[in-house]
Amino acid sequence: MYAEFDLLTPAAVGGALDELAKVENEEDCMPLGGGTNLVVDLRARAVAPKVLISVGRLSGLRGIELGEGRVSMGGAVTVSEILRHPERSRFGPALIGAAQVFAGQMVRNTATIAGNICCGSPAADLVPPLLALDAVVRLECSAGSRELPLADYFTGYKSSVRKPNELLTRVWWPEPPAGSASLFYKLARRKGDAITVVGVAVSLARENGICTRARIALGAVAPVVERVRPAEAMLEGNALEPDLIEAAARAAAQQSSPIDDVRASGKYRRQQVFVLVRRLLSRAWRSLSEGDHP
Ligand SMILES: Cc1cc2nc3c(=O)[nH]c(=O)nc-3n(C[C@H](O)[C@H](O)[C@H](O)COP(=O)(O)OP(=O)(O)OC[C@H]3O[C@@H](n4cnc5c(N)ncnc54)[C@H](O)[C@@H]3O)c2cc1C
Repeated sequence: MYAEFDLLTPAAVGGALDELAKVENEEDCMPLGGGTNLVVDLRARAVAPKVLISVGRLSGLRGIELGEGRVSMGGAVTVSEILRHPERSRFGPALIGAAQVFAGQMVRNTATIAGNICCGSPAADLVPPLLALDAVVRLECSAGSRELPLADYFTGYKSSVRKPNELLTRVWWPEPPAGSASLFYKLARRKGDAITVVGVAVSLARENGICTRARIALGAVAPVVERVRPAEAMLEGNALEPDLIEAAARAAAQQSSPIDDVRASGKYRRQQVFVLVRRLLSRAWRSLSEGDHP
């Protein structure tokens, strides 16, 4: 069933980083978060590391902190922990929306935020909202740490700037201020436990009737989850009239490069990008006009 591997269970982040520092070949050693992706890959023999380093229970990677204008989550925070947090309304509705439609309860209980980012799937559901919220990731190795915008993390299909000796230890983003709104929609073949056909997250801020900040992020329609910067630029500095929203949605559809697969054709996916971006931008803008921020 599985190729043989050693499972290391360090007691602290430092121990995990020391083990990763010994890695010479990326395929030889992998961090194990909740295992909801990695165990599937191990069983399919899509990967065959000689060593797994369990990081999902390390206290240094846990915890959700709010303060100094930030929402900050340890890499091992699970989807269920996001949903159960008493202050979840401060995280950004787009992220909560994605967590609510994420897999089934059992997977949500163990799937981690770092695992969702690091698996590099273009259909990873937490990534579009995190991009729309301007998330920053912290990567740590035994020699030190660095932080970078999540928007600069992915370099291609299932590839990223993370080095084999680094752990993704924390994700943080500015706490969404009053006068901002964010939304996420997952189009899939079923409501629960289904792989995303198209994922869209938007985030808007409004001041004096003008859009001061626009973010649009698309999942499952390109090799990586990505922002649609040309469409964002069309919106910022303007009042979002229906024609402008429609033009931005068209630009988003144009940037997408979806493939045909068993779940949907590329043509359908691109059409749905247009429909969903238009819908979410309209709803978010309307809610800001009405003062009822999603
Ligand atoms: C039935 C089922 C349903 C699913 N439904 C969804 C869904 O609706 N939406 C969705 O987005 N995903 C879904 N998934 C995929 C998966 O659950 C998520 O991607 C999850 O967030 C992965 O997190 P994990 O902690 O389990 O990662 P793991 O499987 O432990 O690891 C995934 C990858 O990340 C690396 N990694 C893990 N933690 C770290 C870290 N701290 N630093 C560096 N690298 C790390 C691992 O080495 C591995 O390469 C589903 C999976 C299953 C089995």
